[in-house]
Amino acid sequence: MKILLCGGAGYVGSHMAKWLAGRGFEITVLDNLSTGHREAVQWGSFVEADLLATDSLERVFGSRRFDAVMHFCARSLVGESVSKPYDYYLNNVSGTLNLLQAMQRYGVNRLVFSSTAAVFGHPTSALIDEGHPKAPINPYGMSKLMVEHMLADAAAAYGLRSVALRYFNAAGASETAEIGEAHQPETHLIPNVLKSVLGQGPGLKVFGDDYPTPDGTCVRDYVHVDDLAQAHELALAYMEQHEGAHAFNLGSGQGFSVREVIAAAEQVTGQRVPYEMTPRRAGDPAVLVASSERARRELGWQPKYNDLRSIIESAWRWHANPKF
Ligand code: UDP
Repeated sequence: MKILLCGGAGYVGSHMAKWLAGRGFEITVLDNLSTGHREAVQWGSFVEADLLATDSLERVFGSRRFDAVMHFCARSLVGESVSKPYDYYLNNVSGTLNLLQAMQRYGVNRLVFSSTAAVFGHPTSALIDEGHPKAPINPYGMSKLMVEHMLADAAAAYGLRSVALRYFNAAGASETAEIGEAHQPETHLIPNVLKSVLGQGPGLKVFGDDYPTPDGTCVRDYVHVDDLAQAHELALAYMEQHEGAHAFNLGSGQGFSVREVIAAAEQVTGQRVPYEMTPRRAGDPAVLVASSERARRELGWQPKYNDLRSIIESAWRWHANPKF
């Protein structure tokens, strides 16, 4: 099967490339390298192209045939989306529309789309399932929800088959640690905790200990990036059996506080994690934990990383010796 991986030089996309290549898929990575890394493209062929440049999309689709597209390209920082909403709507919504139109022109009818827990906004229940109200509280979440709506409309009008996978907190790195998480600047908790151990970066700040949670710090659901990759492969099979636009929440179903993440990292590294307690970061809900029952039941998803410690161990192997 031939797959186009848009955004395949990024964190989740590059793990997807490795996963698919190991299972005999033929892959082409498309990336504009605005946040992705050329060094992360180690599987399949590479095309440097931008979804906003329709002529380069034409060249890609005109030169090869694809059975399906996986779409990871996005601006994805919540805070930045609040200060630069046009960037988010342009890249995430207009860019995706260009991709969908190119797929339609070239008869490619299967899409797996990277969505996010940010489509839900403030949770109204302890576990967030797919039926939870969608009420994004920032332009990032709104841009992803707009694409989910576009996919539903495209299914009705053009018969596009799609699966939107709403990641909770993607974390960890490839077992063999030749690729891993490398954002610039890094805003995510686990990399920042590990960088703090290594004395790298500006120092770890913990954003608030006055949340209504057992220890006062925010609770999140961390899911290993290879488990996300497994779900994408299952989504390809799902689309063969199911018409229409579908969405699944992907998380472990278990929440960990920032303090619990720090404690687990201290166990894994055998070192103290220096940090400073600071006020809350704007836009952070207190608790976000997924119900992934539907993904397990309907996709047959079986995440392999069932504990925080093993996720942090895999991230530590990468951060202790990053390749890019
Ligand atoms: N967080 C923190 N310090 C950091 C980065 C994150 O205290 O340097 C907190 C953040 O407030 C949130 C949790 O850790 O409660 C996870 O944040 P992250 O940015 O990794 O993912 P998000 O939940 O925003 O998608």
